[in-house]
Parts: sequence; structure tokens; C-alpha cells
Amino acid sequence: MKVLLVEDEKKIADFVCAGFKEQGFVSEHCDNGVDGFDRASNGNFDVIVLDIMLPGRDGLSVLKGLRKAGNATPVILLTARNELDDRIEGLSLGADDYLAKPFFVEELIARIQALLRRVSGERQNKLTVGELQLDRISREVTWCGETVDLTGREFNLIEYLMRSPGRVFTRTQILEHVWDYDFDPSTNIIDVCIQRIRKKIASIGVTTEGTSPIESVRGVGYRFRKP
Ligand code: CA
Repeated sequence: MKVLLVEDEKKIADFVCAGFKEQGFVSEHCDNGVDGFDRASNGNFDVIVLDIMLPGRDGLSVLKGLRKAGNATPVILLTARNELDDRIEGLSLGADDYLAKPFFVEELIARIQALLRRVSGERQNKLTVGELQLDRISREVTWCGETVDLTGREFNLIEYLMRSPGRVFTRTQILEHVWDYDFDPSTNIIDVCIQRIRKKIASIGVTTEGTSPIESVRGVGYRFRKP
């Protein structure tokens, strides 16, 4: 899960980002509308949390620009109390939900999860490829029916690969989506994480001819094995 937060109030941004991290979301933060629009246009996010009152370019203008450019990433607006006109305009411009300040980060996370359920449909929240099953809402992974105890990062990585079985992802693509955007691509952090996932799956007892669901593609990256 990759979330973009566009919010200029540092205090709010800090507690929201901390909450996202705790939840296992990968998040990026912009503190003005110009950068926010830029990142939203290029960053391949699952959800955008967008404040309305922003320096540079206000949230409604960012939203309008994104929708006009055909960007359909789900957007949750953050509004000040009593900004009824803004909420109505936001929804009519294509926002998917809004949350009035002040709010609890737990509520924002619950709204994001509800929104993703709505947008992608209940079925897509359960991914099944071969013997591996993944639930995006409960964040549970099972292999041959047994729970695999993964960290948040390991979950995000396997989810990312699992969305497109058979497709090869480069290390840079994986880093951008599962780790922070500007992580050093020469690091072996992905390989270490993949090894840990493989070990955890293998420790359950392998039923499918000893093959790991994640294949290494020499010199390129990794792919999720097609069943
Ligand atoms: Ca603001």
C-alpha cells in the first residue's frame, strides 16, 4: 500500500505519517500543492490524502488537475470544520471521501481501507496465486492454508509481486514501490527481504515440489511464479 499525503501543517503530517508507518503503509509526504500534484501525477500511489488549504496550489485545484489528466487514483480530502462548500465541490470534482479536521489517524486509516474495498471490490482484496493467498484488509498471508507470519515490509513486497504473476519486476521498481522513493538502488535490502520470505514459507512445509513462489530472474529482479 503506497499513500501520498499532501498536507502543509507539519504536526498533522508527522502524526499521520507515523500512523501510516505503524500500519505498514509506504508513504510520501509533500507540504505544498505544486509538489503534491507533481508526485501524484508520477508516483503510482494506491491512495492520495489531500488537504484542501495548501500553499502553492490548493487541494481542489490539485484534484481537478489530476482528474482532468485522467488520473483516477482514489483521493481522500482533508477539510477544516464547516467547509461544507469545499466538501461538496471536492466530491463533485471526483474526490472519493473526505475527513474533517481534527481527526484520529485510526479513522483516516479505516477510511482508506474502506475506500480501497469500495474501489477495487471485495474480491480483489483477496489475492490467490497457486498455494499462496493474501488478504489486503486483514494483511494475512497463507501458504497451503497455513498462516505465514510476515512483517509489514515483507507483506508489501509479496503483495506487489503477486499483483502481476509472471511479470518481472526490477529492483528499482520494487524499491520505489515497497521502500522509500529515494532508497539507494545498489543496496541488497530486497534480496535479504526475499530470502526471509522464502524461509518463512519453506518453514511451513512445502507441498509444491519444493519450489518457492518467488523466482529470481538473474541480472534483472524478481517475479511471482505463475501456477
Ligand atoms: Ca492546510
